[in-house]
Amino acid sequence: MKNEHITFHRGKVSRNDRFSVLGQKGVAVWMTGLSASGKSTIAVETEKILIGMGKAVYRIDGDNLRHGLNSDLGFSEKDRFENIRRAAEVCALFVDAGLIVLASFISPLASMRSLAREKTGDSFIEVYVKADVETCCKRDPKGLYKKARAGEIPDFTGVTAPYEVPPSPDLVLDTERYSIEDCARILADKILQFSALK
Ligand code: ADP
Repeated sequence: MKNEHITFHRGKVSRNDRFSVLGQKGVAVWMTGLSASGKSTIAVETEKILIGMGKAVYRIDGDNLRHGLNSDLGFSEKDRFENIRRAAEVCALFVDAGLIVLASFISPLASMRSLAREKTGDSFIEVYVKADVETCCKRDPKGLYKKARAGEIPDFTGVTAPYEVPPSPDLVLDTERYSIEDCARILADKILQFSALK
């Protein structure tokens, strides 16, 4: 709900001023893919590489936000949209602050990813972390696929809820073909190019 008495308060510092202080451009790295495709694992490794190079990086992921900011949300389509909307708003703030944000969210529908991109504008990289349902079922690090297939988790992406493969992501990380280390290195390189100040 919009309040007509609220106005946007502008500061005297631009986002480019903040970017100069940090020596990098803020960027939202939006990682989408099935549960267990490797989003969080690759984000953790990529964060380590970039922090080691003196970059200002922050990682947010679906599970972590659901413990706090989004703890009131479930997995219905409406709640999933709200989950993404809030995550994207948070992401946009961090990007505006100048951070490289590694955001891992299944974000199963193309419309959810568009919503996220809309919030961040041109500082957005969509990364498709690719692994098919069979591979994810075999990995099943949290035992969720087993439960979903036994009917214990409703609306589970890839089992009882859809995942729309991104038609034109900015980067594909095929975790069936490449190791965790290779994926992290490829992603870190892409981010370094994108976040470099001209
Ligand atoms: P997500 O965040 O997408 O739900 P996780 O990162 O939590 O996925 O889990 C991915 C699992 O797959 C981890 O147990 C990880 O060790 C394993 N894995 C195997 N190969 C890869 C790879 N090439 N890239 C990323 N994860 C991989």
